[in-house]
Amino acid sequence: MTEKLRANPFYCPHCAAKYTLVKVEAVSAVDAKVRCINCGGPLDGRENAFILKYFLVERPRYDQQHAGQRR
Ligand SMILES: [Zn+2]
Repeated sequence: MTEKLRANPFYCPHCAAKYTLVKVEAVSAVDAKVRCINCGGPLDGRENAFILKYFLVERPRYDQQHAGQRR
């Protein structure tokens, strides 16, 4: 395995869903808008010369506590 990408744990500031955050070097100007898969909250799409990619690992636990309260 030749893994060049750095994967960092990341928690959504809105709902605390757990992501793996990968920084990818941006080869062109991309206006990346990213939203949390779980809550739809806005996340940073890029950081300086890097594009940020989020991979959902785990949804927050409190979802399960409200499992019985479906609308
Ligand atoms: Zn979220």
